Amino acid sequence: MKRLLLSLCVLFGTLGTLRAQYSVDTIHASLAGSEGLNVVILSEGYIESQLTRFKKDCDELVDSFFRHTPWKEYKTYINFFSVPIASNVKGAGQTPDNPIDNVYGTCFGTSGVDRMPWPTNWTKVNSVLNRTVPDHDMVIILINQNKYGGGGGGGFVCLSNFKSGYWVNDYFQIIIHEAGHALGDLADEYWYDGRERPNQTKVASKERVKWKNWIGKDKVGVYPYEESPDWYRPHQNCLMRYLGQPYCDVCREALIEAIHQSVKPILSYEPDNKKSVYAGAADESITFSLNLLKPNPNSLHVNWKLDSKTMEGEHEDVLTIPFDSLEAPGRLHLLTASVEDQSKYLLVDNHASIHVQTVTWRFKREEDANAIEVVSSTKDDITLSPLPFADQLTVRVAESGQPFTAQLCDLSGRVVASGDDVAQVSFTTSSLPEGVYVVRLIRDGQVFYSRKVTK
Ligand SMILES: [Zn+2]
Repeated sequence: MKRLLLSLCVLFGTLGTLRAQYSVDTIHASLAGSEGLNVVILSEGYIESQLTRFKKDCDELVDSFFRHTPWKEYKTYINFFSVPIASNVKGAGQTPDNPIDNVYGTCFGTSGVDRMPWPTNWTKVNSVLNRTVPDHDMVIILINQNKYGGGGGGGFVCLSNFKSGYWVNDYFQIIIHEAGHALGDLADEYWYDGRERPNQTKVASKERVKWKNWIGKDKVGVYPYEESPDWYRPHQNCLMRYLGQPYCDVCREALIEAIHQSVKPILSYEPDNKKSVYAGAADESITFSLNLLKPNPNSLHVNWKLDSKTMEGEHEDVLTIPFDSLEAPGRLHLLTASVEDQSKYLLVDNHASIHVQTVTWRFKREEDANAIEVVSSTKDDITLSPLPFADQLTVRVAESGQPFTAQLCDLSGRVVASGDDVAQVSFTTSSLPEGVYVVRLIRDGQVFYSRKVTK
């Protein structure tokens, strides 16, 4: 759960002494700032009279960002903020041993590379972030200087404003490339950095490589780096290698994974706690609904089940149940809604890991009114990985903190492995024959989630 410091103006003073005042501008926030993948842009080397231009520079950067897949499809999941702070001087220093009086001590020439700018005053960077957008997923330090330069790592991007001139297209591409590093832990595909990443590996086998599900699609393969032929990338023309290209399938999927790890699609649901819900009359219906954060186009799939039976209204975020279809008072009913992203950019049926959010309602008919009594409602975040599995399969159930039982069953229904926990169950599966199995999650004796998985 993300929490942002939303106050537009944050004052820090001691005994009435004004020390520092930072403002936060919201550039894009469909989630009203309470949840989301948060990106913040800091101004560097903009003097007071140039802060209006900083705002325009930010707007242009964000517009460009949302023109690229998958960011444009998941625009509703992402927030952009900026923190305009006036600098005493314009631009950045030319070398780190000769800093100028700008906001974060940013200089070019980091590690001896002229086109590599980076802040030197990290105390100031962290202080500003902690007092403005402490829950940030990516930080862009935007330098007011028309000189080719930029770099990124560890969730930070430092970029000089070289969009006026020959390099303008590179400027708008670099931020998309750097977001791949910062938000998806992607490697550069033009050189290897010697670490296993979503798009870099030492595994040469097309059958075992981590992106094996994509092999053969859109020219995804296992390509050695020229300078280090025992390390491999998934594509020859990915944005992580060449500016002007889109992300390859493997990188795009990793970024959507990263979005789902930060932001969950069920914002709220109704009814949301223990209460009575009235149908009005016996021939009317009871309504259950999800408030979903939808990608554009909407790729969320909702599976509704009442007492383990799939309901009409599947795929919809609202389900109505005719009141007179419910059995006699006192019978406990279980309604589940499972939400899964079935984007064409995810290999949903053969995906490295599956994220699902579920809501489970337990309710019964009331005795003497056209109403139901909601006994409980629970929201869970479920992750199954890896898929397909080999020697081990892990089931994580986050958010609710309620105990559950996880079962792995064969297709005849026989339970081949089982475990109880409040958060995570891992099955050792090395001795099981290859084939199709079913993961079942059970709480209070009732199945609230099931899914076929392949070994
Ligand atoms: Zn790639």
